[in-house]
Amino acid sequence: MKVLVINCGSSTIKYQVYDAQGKVVLAKGIVARLGEKGSYLSQQTAHSDVRRELPIASHAEGFQLLVQALLDPQDGVLGDLSEIIAVGHRTVHGGDVFVESSIITDEVIRKMEELIPLAPIHNPANLLGIHEAMRIFPNVPHVAVFDTSFHQTMPRKAFLYALPYEYYEKHKIRKYGFHGTSCRYVSQEAARMLNRPIEALKMVICHLGNGVTIAAVDGGRSIDTSIGFATFSGVMMGTRSGDIDPGLTFFLNRQSGMSLEQIENLYYHESGLLGVSGVSNDMRVIVDQARAGNDRCQLALEMFAYRVKAYIGAYAAALGGLDVLVFTAGIGENAPVVREAICEGLGFLGIGLDRAKNEQALAIQSDISLAQSRVRVLVVPTNEEQMIALDTVRLAELARHATPSPSERDR
Ligand code: AMP
Repeated sequence: MKVLVINCGSSTIKYQVYDAQGKVVLAKGIVARLGEKGSYLSQQTAHSDVRRELPIASHAEGFQLLVQALLDPQDGVLGDLSEIIAVGHRTVHGGDVFVESSIITDEVIRKMEELIPLAPIHNPANLLGIHEAMRIFPNVPHVAVFDTSFHQTMPRKAFLYALPYEYYEKHKIRKYGFHGTSCRYVSQEAARMLNRPIEALKMVICHLGNGVTIAAVDGGRSIDTSIGFATFSGVMMGTRSGDIDPGLTFFLNRQSGMSLEQIENLYYHESGLLGVSGVSNDMRVIVDQARAGNDRCQLALEMFAYRVKAYIGAYAAALGGLDVLVFTAGIGENAPVVREAICEGLGFLGIGLDRAKNEQALAIQSDISLAQSRVRVLVVPTNEEQMIALDTVRLAELARHATPSPSERDR
């Protein structure tokens, strides 16, 4: 009895197999560069590590391959496909329709299709993964876990833009927020680490990875978050600008003659750490080069830390206090120098960083605050797949109880 978790993107399929409780990872893998040169499958289990480079033309072929790899007598973890009792799907955009994870029905698929304009790249890829997985596993519950759901608890005053109200009503223009599955997982883990009820905690979550989200979480509920309608607002990211004055778009269009497509590309792919440093979108390179004396990398580092710091201040005010500051994702988990730069000067909020603990906390759960710090500063490695697996187990269980077994039906 096992649970499969699928994260299907436009050119990759990431997958993990969990035990029936959704707690232990038995296999994880990726089918990458679908339809491109250099496509491959790589899969790790406790007893094997395989990588196969071969042409993989489509998602359908990718799914076939991953199934073969999972069933492989030597390298796989499944004796038979019927061992999979439920499938969880990472799904990016649930709009304001999906306030929590859902068992996938025809109606859910129809609603997800309606949401495609809000996530034109991600939702079609997610749907493709759902269709392929349903074809292979037709008789088990499939569960959609939406990245936006966690932020659906934001109040109107936080999620609305000050545009004419009918733009919200007609076009669904509002802040949705992303990285919600990560924020939900780390906020629950943080409460568990502190052995305190989540309902009593005011947290700011700093999800600092390729994408960056800062979220204000009050009693386990998101009340505000830095990414809004599109995925480039908030803090600057690897290649995304973060918050900018919208007036720039008109200026660039009129003065420089850039098309909307070129400006969009500028904001999404040429800005952020890469744009400022001129060197890289990878914080590891930025940190190394800043240490080596590269002024633009130093500037990118300072701008990044400054922007995170400013959001922490804003969200502490929105929360009306702060108990916990959480660092997670690639940069948050692995870059002590960035965490230190962010926390510097935040003593007035009750944040006191223990430098030695901070240096040692690399991708492990740790409390890196000084003993006397009023705010607990935590490093909590994120695990979105684990959250998806747990939701899948929970909802599949509910579905089983809701559907009468053949013997119950006959009674
Ligand atoms: P994620 O999106 O969570 O996988 O984070 C990926 C990003 O984390 C990479 O692009 C790097 O910028 C950053 N990262 C990973 N390891 C480190 C590290 N040791 N120091 C600084 N940044 C890191």
